Amino acid sequence: MIKNENIRNLVKKYNENKLSHVFLIETDNKEFAFRDIKEFVKILNCQENIFQEDCSKCNLCHLIETESLPTFKVIMPDGQAIKKGQMETLKHQFSTVPYLSKYNIYMIQDAEKFNASSANMMLKFIEEPEKNIIGFLITDNRENVIHTIKSRCEIVNAYYGQKNIVLSSAIEALVEDYLYNIEVEKEKSIVYNKDVLDSKLEREEMILFFKAILKIYLQLFQEEIIPEKLISLKNLSKEQVFKRISLVAECLERLNYNVNILLLLDDFVLRLED
Ligand SMILES: [Zn+2]
Repeated sequence: MIKNENIRNLVKKYNENKLSHVFLIETDNKEFAFRDIKEFVKILNCQENIFQEDCSKCNLCHLIETESLPTFKVIMPDGQAIKKGQMETLKHQFSTVPYLSKYNIYMIQDAEKFNASSANMMLKFIEEPEKNIIGFLITDNRENVIHTIKSRCEIVNAYYGQKNIVLSSAIEALVEDYLYNIEVEKEKSIVYNKDVLDSKLEREEMILFFKAILKIYLQLFQEEIIPEKLISLKNLSKEQVFKRISLVAECLERLNYNVNILLLLDDFVLRLED
């Protein structure tokens, strides 16, 4: 079943023939949004008279599920970015009218990861739409999507109320910088905390922030791969890492109450030292 109401409403729009040709889905859970769109694509294509959840009877639903239907393309960033070549391939593949299904449908994960040249290709693609193409761009933050693309999309909010599970990439990047500065550069002054974080993060985001820190220390503890920038943290002893994990856990606990965030951070940085 489509979990999100706004995505479910697209089925209604489809039945009324009112579907836009490109959507920007802003979501707090890309995986759930991905699943919901897939369900939507199945509903559009299912060969059974009445679509059944988890339809396993028809070939099309099966092909959609396994992402092997030629008229349904899923694009993930190639490394750090969506590349121009990926968009060219898509444009080429969708230059013919869809067969087997009514629409050519593409879905782009991480719509914030267009670079200048792929964004340009994307714009051309949106501006000269071939018939019967529908696109879904998925992002966790519409503010990070290139404006010219965003302005041509119909925006759909798809929130699943599971914010805590998804660490936005923005926060992860911030945490990398933060740990780099306090752990590697040893920039442990209280002024630094103030500069970097003062009033930028709400309490809820602060929880995500500390969870992202916890994730990195846990990776260290389990000797898993950690971000390149923080590689010198591997010199910490197990005891030192364990101490950090306990400290972050304590900060997370305190965030459940109405703590002063700046004081909490100062405390965190100072206690990393002893
Ligand atoms: Zn089916």
